[in-house]
Amino acid sequence: MTAVNPLARLEVRFAGSFPDPLQKLEPELPEFAFIGRSNVGKSSLLNALLGRRSLARVSSTPGKTQLLNIYTLPTLHLIDLPGYGYARATKPERAGYRKLLERLLRDRPTLSGVVWLLDIRHPPSRDDVEFQQLLAKSGIAVLVVLTKADKLNRSGVTTALRDRTRELGLEADQIQVVSAERGDGITELATAILAAAGEDTR
Ligand code: GDP
Repeated sequence: MTAVNPLARLEVRFAGSFPDPLQKLEPELPEFAFIGRSNVGKSSLLNALLGRRSLARVSSTPGKTQLLNIYTLPTLHLIDLPGYGYARATKPERAGYRKLLERLLRDRPTLSGVVWLLDIRHPPSRDDVEFQQLLAKSGIAVLVVLTKADKLNRSGVTTALRDRTRELGLEADQIQVVSAERGDGITELATAILAAAGEDTR
């Protein structure tokens, strides 16, 4: 029997797009921020998690739109952060983006966790490593997600998972492999997010 994604059955509302990383949200609930390199599959993953076809929109101008898109559910907020590592971003855009992340990770007490996305097929990029350092400094709980697993066969997934785990210096049980396209790992990730928000969905 296929387990049901526990996030998909909840009501979700798009609360808006905000430039301020410290934007206060009503009501005050645990918050989870989604982040990764642009094109990592973040919008697709959010739509799969929320069980909607196109709630999270693909960012129109990556690198330029440094807005937090917020989705509010009954017991938590999901924060869709702009993707990093956009090749054509200018130096000031990169600096502004780093500042936004630093403030969000350091000065946002309602932030319960970060859902960090990496493409399962590639070793962490320089931007990924830089972000991992920011994360480590913040001490915020992180769920690591390897996306686009359907692009590899079963043994390719096993090898890539082992390699990414080693490169990131993590344990395999800290990583969730997903495919937004095929639905793999979506229920497990949704359950982990709800558990981190303090909910028992079993
Ligand atoms: P974002 O820029 O991180 O929000 O990434 P998107 O969700 O817009 O996805 C970027 C590209 O990767 C699009 O062409 C998606 O169709 C594709 N993509 C996203 N998730 C998956 C997945 O699970 N499997 C496959 N094969 N492609 C995916």
